[in-house]
Amino acid sequence: MPSDRPLLLIDVDGVLALFNLTADPPPGAWHMIEGFVYYLQTTGAQLLHAAGDRFDLAWCTGWEDRANDHLPRLLGTPGPLPVVHFERNPGRGNAHWKLDAIDAFCGGRPTAWIDDALNDQCTDWAAARNAAGIPTLLVETEPHRGMQQAHLDALIAFADSCDAAG
Ligand SMILES: [Mg+2]
Repeated sequence: MPSDRPLLLIDVDGVLALFNLTADPPPGAWHMIEGFVYYLQTTGAQLLHAAGDRFDLAWCTGWEDRANDHLPRLLGTPGPLPVVHFERNPGRGNAHWKLDAIDAFCGGRPTAWIDDALNDQCTDWAAARNAAGIPTLLVETEPHRGMQQAHLDALIAFADSCDAAG
């Protein structure tokens, strides 16, 4: 039986792995991963567990399968999770590079997407899905803060609205 819960697509860089840090970053720690140094914030990892009570979670990140290789172990995120995989040569010339793979992965399921790098094509994509009656929410993070409580609050409100509509 397919789940009737909405999907939550989770970016990593700018959501859990922060950059452009300020002098007062969210709680987290530096980690060496495959030769690169990352600041992984712990608040977002905890919030994803709460989101997992209402959503089917999936990674939607250039990390692809490496998210499962490292983040549950280092950061205590949920996982392993399903992974959106990307083509090397995205089809639509000026569309956001993740959109074709997201469409293929999500089909017509209600979907929320948390990412630090959403553009006008993403907004258009979400508006078109909502206009077609497929609940869709974009949640944008700041790369130096990543996922915080307010983002989870927005996601829970979206899940509630999906329940009310269903
Ligand atoms: Mg990102």
